[in-house]
Amino acid sequence: MKESNPQLINGVPVIGIVIVSHSRRLAEGVRELALQMVKDHVPIAVAAGIDDPANPLGTDAMQVYEAIASVYSDDGVLVLMDLGSALMSAEMALEFLPSEQQQHIHLCAAPLVEGAIAAVVAAASSSDIQQVITEAQGALVAKATQLGLDESHLSLVISEEPMINDKGQTSQISLTVSNRFGLHARPAAQFVSCAARFQSQIQVRNITKGSEFVRADSINQVAMLGVRQGDEIVISATGSDAEEALAALQTLITTNFGEDNTPPHLPITPLPPNPTRWGPLAPHLPIAPSPHLPTSLQGIPASPGVAIAPCFRYRKTPITWEQTTSREQPPHYHVEDIREEWQRLQTALHTAQQEIQTLLSHSSIQIGDTEAAIFDAHLLFLADPTLLEAAQQRIFTQHLNAEAVWQGVINEVASNYRRLDDPYLQERIADVVDVGQRVLRVLSGTPMTIVDVPQPAILVAADLTPSDTASLDPTRILGICITAGSATSHTAILARSLGIPAIVGLPPEILQLADGTQLAIDGETGRVWVEPEPETLVALRTQRDAQQVNRQQTRTIAHQPGMTRDRHQINVFANVSGINDTQQAVNFGAEGVGLLRTEFLYLNRTTAPTEEQQLEVYQAIAQILDHRPLIIRTLDVGGDKSIAYLGVGLESNPFLGWRGIRFCLDRPHVLKTQLRAILRASFRHQIKIMFPMITTVAEIQAAKAILAEVQGELRQAGVPFDEAMQIGIMVEVPSAVTIADQLAREVDFFSIGTNDLSQYVMAADRTNPKVAKLADALHPAVLRMIHQTVEAGHAAGIWVGLCGEIAADPLAAPILLGLGLDEVSLSPPAIPAFKGAIAQLTMPQAQAIVTTALQQDSAAKVREIVNDDLHLI
Ligand code: PEP
Ligand code: MG
Repeated sequence: MKESNPQLINGVPVIGIVIVSHSRRLAEGVRELALQMVKDHVPIAVAAGIDDPANPLGTDAMQVYEAIASVYSDDGVLVLMDLGSALMSAEMALEFLPSEQQQHIHLCAAPLVEGAIAAVVAAASSSDIQQVITEAQGALVAKATQLGLDESHLSLVISEEPMINDKGQTSQISLTVSNRFGLHARPAAQFVSCAARFQSQIQVRNITKGSEFVRADSINQVAMLGVRQGDEIVISATGSDAEEALAALQTLITTNFGEDNTPPHLPITPLPPNPTRWGPLAPHLPIAPSPHLPTSLQGIPASPGVAIAPCFRYRKTPITWEQTTSREQPPHYHVEDIREEWQRLQTALHTAQQEIQTLLSHSSIQIGDTEAAIFDAHLLFLADPTLLEAAQQRIFTQHLNAEAVWQGVINEVASNYRRLDDPYLQERIADVVDVGQRVLRVLSGTPMTIVDVPQPAILVAADLTPSDTASLDPTRILGICITAGSATSHTAILARSLGIPAIVGLPPEILQLADGTQLAIDGETGRVWVEPEPETLVALRTQRDAQQVNRQQTRTIAHQPGMTRDRHQINVFANVSGINDTQQAVNFGAEGVGLLRTEFLYLNRTTAPTEEQQLEVYQAIAQILDHRPLIIRTLDVGGDKSIAYLGVGLESNPFLGWRGIRFCLDRPHVLKTQLRAILRASFRHQIKIMFPMITTVAEIQAAKAILAEVQGELRQAGVPFDEAMQIGIMVEVPSAVTIADQLAREVDFFSIGTNDLSQYVMAADRTNPKVAKLADALHPAVLRMIHQTVEAGHAAGIWVGLCGEIAADPLAAPILLGLGLDEVSLSPPAIPAFKGAIAQLTMPQAQAIVTTALQQDSAAKVREIVNDDLHLI
């Protein structure tokens, strides 16, 4: 590989192109054709044919590697392939490259001939790698247009049957979607991102709604399928990695996209619209206070809490267009240089993407990854191939300017959503408009505005976009009142995450209030009081103050050690799967991390993370924890977590198959790389190691032997690590419980994984909605297993924790405490409630609850007795 980095010659990116084909002559021909277009400026290498005169057709990974090396640049290398093994050779060639270079190599799904020409032309005109990729991928548009294929060819619905291409066999799976909201924005985004990682052509249809097949890499098409909980879908994949793609998508769906399927803590009941609603106000009219303002208004409760403050009317700065007479409508004009116009739109899309990325990072830290993922959907929207192809086609065929074309495309998507008779999809129009306006604003050169108020206030507006809401400062915006929206809008979801009381769907009269008018709002009932009477104010202040004291108390308790009323301490740790949720865990009062699910490091990529990449992440997480303990679980692949490139493959009983430690012991190089990274990170950090799915004593002994081998190698190389690091196992299969006394002799701690333990004890697949309810960790059969494990661990003198999701159930707190666990690890937002719950109890009370619970014959009865006992305490 070249040492030098030829990027940015005279400030211009240098993009290398590699053509991989079975036929040398075909590849040379494509290179010749492409170079003719650009006067030899772009480095193009060919990797084609094999060194066998008798049978010269084929591809060779080493040749592809050498071709990439010969044109390598940090600005990016685009690899175009013909079919079949060309893809595999290219993927394999990537593995020969150092990891820091792999990220600059892009395997492109574009058609070989058209794609190569479009890519070379774009690369020669100083485009960056993303632009070159888009050009290559959209290369068929011009041909389609020439052949008279109209927009419908690129339209949202493809066909009743999946389109079969020439890349190979088509495989299909049929699944029932069981997560609570179906394929709504966040799961749709996960589904599309996952599908887009594969070379295969993937399509999906909603059988329940009788829809046709749509492209799985288009966020809008997938969202418009309107897939809800219980709907049956068919996914079809055609291509070399079809099986892996289907396995990965199946995993996403069967694991409910990582969502918690329990209903939200605070159900929000939409109220009927207020009969006093007026028609919408003309925008930007000067507003005079109405002499007939009602004293109170009713809207839809969207985010709980009481707020009392002067109101501040927010009006979004409109986009202004220099070239138009109205200055509010984007200009329409004829463009001569269509390539330059397409480039202008792509630059605006790129800027918009960067803005959303910043918003996403900011929101991940402030409100957590789950809610911030709304903006992942915004990013996917900007990368939706059907939108980009439609926009490019219009610029190229109609010679229309970028802003007119973009607005046209956005209006069509919004009206497609509007036509669908689905209230949830109606809410997505706000996201479409939000993203669409962002791009138009960038094109117009109008600066971005931040919603701010001159003093702490209740914000009153016709509408707020999700982007506006995510950037609100809760110390200045004490409440939100808007006339648009519903409780399921992203604006409402974001307000709840930020803890700002909010009411949506208010009558437009509220928009007539003069700035500074005193308001009081109750986000739980949806009521707004205008200039409230003194006695109303007193009552609401009392309610607000009580809420604040309550919140403050929970916050204070959350940041103190987990302690019962009689001062028995239990460590309250967090389950995390990344850097952002570790920060969130600390904010919620986690005393450490009890389970780092390292699988996240292996997802969304095509090769396993290197030792250095893992080390960097483990160190970053340990740094955030600042001397709090960090328990790193080694890779738990298999079961419901399929990672295509590791080659676990499809199994008929994945939960009883090649998962966790079973896989790692058979692939010691994967485990050793991870152990080296964990050991190196343990130097000067409080790290412990934990092995998943241990079923026999021989397995933990084999894992420890590999660990000892790695420790020996590090010692010999003089690499420091924590020699006293504790080693533990997850107790999550029944055999581990029954031989817990033997296993306890091998390790320093146990952590009980009730998610798996419940499914194995109750013989009920945790991902199968028809039986998943049986796998309830509060069933006495599971509780007795936990009890037995704690007793065995304590008898052997080791500590015992628990890291299953059950710990987040408020009714589980007294039971887990009474069972004698030394540590619990749970999802970060549930930590304050857990600490609050145990702070009300004494150890003897909790033990008494457990004694009764263990004698019950169902999970329902356990819940009943906990409920009753808590009321008596
Ligand atoms: C468990 O099984 O309880 C557990 C915490 O692990 P996971 O959910 O990752 O399988
Ligand atoms: Mg598990």
